[in-house]
Amino acid sequence: MVKKKILVIEDEPQIALGLSDALTFEGFDVVVADTGQKGVALAQQLRPNAILLDLMLPDDNGFHVCEQLRAIDRLVPIVMLTARSSEADKIRGLELGADDYLTKPFSVGELVARMRAIFRRAERSPDVVETFLIGKVQVNLAAQTVTRGKTVEQLSFYEVGLLRALLERKGEPVSRDELLQKIWGLEAGPTNRTVDNFIVKLRRKIEDVADKPEFLLTVYGYGYKLVVVV
Ligand code: CA
Repeated sequence: MVKKKILVIEDEPQIALGLSDALTFEGFDVVVADTGQKGVALAQQLRPNAILLDLMLPDDNGFHVCEQLRAIDRLVPIVMLTARSSEADKIRGLELGADDYLTKPFSVGELVARMRAIFRRAERSPDVVETFLIGKVQVNLAAQTVTRGKTVEQLSFYEVGLLRALLERKGEPVSRDELLQKIWGLEAGPTNRTVDNFIVKLRRKIEDVADKPEFLLTVYGYGYKLVVVV
C-alpha cells in the first residue's frame, strides 16, 4: 500500500520533530516545512494527502498560508495547530479553508487518532450515493459541492464526512458520540461540541432556513438524522 503523505508546517523544532516521529511511526510519510512559504511550495510539489498547519509561523500567519494551500488543492484535509483557543480564531481558520484545528498542547495520541480517522474516512463507503438532492439543493459528495440554483458552494472534508455517516443510516438517528468517533477519531465527552459546530455550518449550506431545519434534524439528547429521499 502506498504510504499517505502528511505535510507538517511548523516552525518549532521540538513540536515538528515530535509530530514527525509519531506520524512516521504510524506508517505515514512525513515532510516538515519550517516556514509558511516552504510549506506552500512543498504542497504544490508533493500534493500531500493531509496538511498540519501551525498558526504562528515566522514568515507569514497561518490564516494566509491556509488560503494559499486551499488554492493549490481545494479538497486536501487541513488541520490547524493553534496555541490560541479563542473561538474567533477557530472560526476564521475554518472560513479560510481549514477543516479542523487542534489546540496546543495536544496529545500525540489525539493527533494520530485524528489522522487515522481522516484517512479511514477518505475511503469511500460503497453503500452511499455520491449525488442526491436535499430539498432544492443538489449535493455532490465526490466533488464536495452543494449547488443551489446557480450558486455552487464548497463542502469541507468534515461536512462530507457528516453527510456520508448520516446517509449510511438512511434516516435513522446517529449519536453525537458515534459521529465524533467515526469522523474525528475523538473520544466522546459531554463537553465536546465539535459535532454541533459543524452541523450548524452544514445547515447553512443545505437548509433553506438554517435555524428551522427540515432535513438535517436534531434528535434531542442523542444526535442527528438526515431525512432525504435518495
Ligand atoms: Ca509556531
